[in-house]
This record gives sequence, structure tokens and C-alpha cells, in this order.
Amino acid sequence: LDGYTLNPGDLSWTALEQLSEVTVYDRTAYDNGNLALIIERVGDAEFVFTNKTPLPAEAIQAMPKLKFIGVLATGYNVVDVDAAKACGVVVANIPTYGTAAVAQMAIALLLELCHHVGAHSAAVKNGDWTKNADWCFWNYPLIELAGKNMGIIGFGRIGQAVANIAQALGMKVLAFDNYRVKELESETLKYVELDELLAQADVISLHCPLFESTKGIINSSTIAKMKPGVMIVNTSRGPLVVEQDLADALNSGRVAGAGLDVVSTEPIGADNPLLTAKNCLITPHIAWAPKEARQRLMDIAVNNLKSYLEG
Ligand code: NAD
Repeated sequence: LDGYTLNPGDLSWTALEQLSEVTVYDRTAYDNGNLALIIERVGDAEFVFTNKTPLPAEAIQAMPKLKFIGVLATGYNVVDVDAAKACGVVVANIPTYGTAAVAQMAIALLLELCHHVGAHSAAVKNGDWTKNADWCFWNYPLIELAGKNMGIIGFGRIGQAVANIAQALGMKVLAFDNYRVKELESETLKYVELDELLAQADVISLHCPLFESTKGIINSSTIAKMKPGVMIVNTSRGPLVVEQDLADALNSGRVAGAGLDVVSTEPIGADNPLLTAKNCLITPHIAWAPKEARQRLMDIAVNNLKSYLEG
């Protein structure tokens, strides 16, 4: 499922060729939310790989031969793991394939907020070199990150990778995580409580998983504790943010900019208030998608299946 999304023809399928029969589907079942089509496609397959196409209990229970679900992602919220367990189906996700890719995207979104490269380049191509210079100073002031504080909520693999890049840019890192690795602390990196992070950070980047405890962690009351002019980046999961609250804060200028690779409902709804919010960049959940990361994802997925088959 989602095979062509993962591999629009630019990756090697060699690992998958070791299986006797492989059928690859595009993402129409996911785009249409069509459960009947998902069930029809999986049919009597024994092994299924999915990226974003959901496999709820109803689908899993309708697949009598299913033994193994490979989730081609870090987060495995697309599969009803309890239902799979009850049906004796093994579920394997892939936690490590995209750490560098997602960290790079978080920084890309942040740098775009600070430099507006796309807007300035478009203006130059429109013949607006001089006007662009004035326009940039007044409407899109550039922001230097060196010396500023980067707050990172969720200091696991991706959060730490973002911290390394932020420090290379001259930023100081404030990390918030339930689980602290004291040895990671240094002159430019310290763990803090959430309230201190909210109060001190010039940029806040989200890298915690989506749990009941983290859902809506960015909302009007946490935004009220932040520095005016803070920038927020989310490459983790959309529901970490109360979107109307963030949109209001962007429109009032309380939050200076947001860079989001994920939103609460994907694909994004036409009525999502962030679509029209001021200085809000939105990419379609692609942080994971450099070719190098997708090839790694595919290779690890097939190895997971091989390990399962070898017991
Ligand atoms: P990780 O498990 O290495 O790190 C997550 C960290 O969050 C852990 O250190 C954990 O202790 C911490 N945490 C858990 N609950 C917390 C809480 N309540 N408050 C603060 N911290 C808490 O995971 P990772 O590999 O760094 O991935 C992070 C997230 O990135 C994933 O959950 C996933 O949602 C997201 N992701 C997005 C993409 C994309 O394409 N946009 C791709 C891969 C992963």
C-alpha cells in the first residue's frame, strides 16, 4: 500500500524481489479513505507494507491470511496494534531510517522563516531586484539565529540531531524531555522544565511523539507563556498543535512564524485556518522523503520481514 508514494521509480526494488509475489499499489485508497478498497487490495496477502494507508481493526479482521504488517514509518499510529495482536499479526515499524532527513527538514523550515529564500528568489525573477531589497527589509526582515535560544520539545533521536545543527548555527539549546541523558548537557545545551523552555526560547521545535499527554501541547495558554515573536516548527505530528490557537497567534503577530510539515488532518482540509495564517509555511508531510531515507526505509523493512520469517 502506498508503494508508488514510497518509490516513484527512483529506488531499487532488489530487496523486495526476494519475495515470490509482490503487488504494489498507489495511494488512492488512502486519499479516498476507502476501507473497502484497502481490504480488496490486501485481499489474501500474507505480508503487507503500508506507509500512510490505515489498517484499522475492521481491515485487519477482514484479512484472514495476514501474518505481518510492516509500517514504513517511525510512528505506527496508522495500524490498530491491539487488533493485530489479537489476530496474531506481527507489526514492525522502522524507528531510525529518517533521523537526519527529518532534522534537516526542521532546520530547512526554520531557515526559510528566517530568510524567505523562495519569496526573494521569485521577486528577483519577476524583475524586482531593487524593489525586492526594500521589500525584504520592511516586510520580510531577515533573522540571524546565532546567539538565540532553540527550544526542543522531545529530545530523542531527531531532537538531538536538530540540536547539533542548531549549535553549529551558534544557537543555545534548551531541551525538554521526560527522560534526561545528563551526559548530553554542555555549555550550549541544557535540559529545562517546559515552562522555562516556553519562556526562554526564540524558536520552538517539536520532536516528541503524539500521546494523550502531548496532544495539543502548543495551545493558547502555552503560547501565552512564550516570548513575543517566537517561531514554531513542527515536523513531528499535527495534533501536537491546537491549530486555531496557532493561527490566531500568527495573525496577531504574537508568534512571528511557523514551519509545519504535519497538520492535524492529512491531507490538509480546505478549511484549515493555518492555510491562510500569516507567515505560516506548510509542507505535505515530506520530511521523511529524501531518496536516501526512502531506500533505507525499504531495505530495513525487507530485513524486518526476513527476520520475522527466520523466526
Ligand atoms: P524518539 O523516540 O527517538 O524521541 C522522542 C522523544 O520524545 C523521546 O526522547 C521521549 O522520551 C520524548 N517524549 C515522550 N513523551 C514526551 C513528553 N510528554 N514530553 C516531552 N518529551 C517526550 O523519536 P524520534 O525518532 O526522534 O521521532 C520523533 C517524532 O518524529 C516521531 O514521534 C514522529 O512522530 C516524528 N516523525 C516525523 C516524520 C516526518 O516525515 N515528518 C518522520 C519520522 C518521524
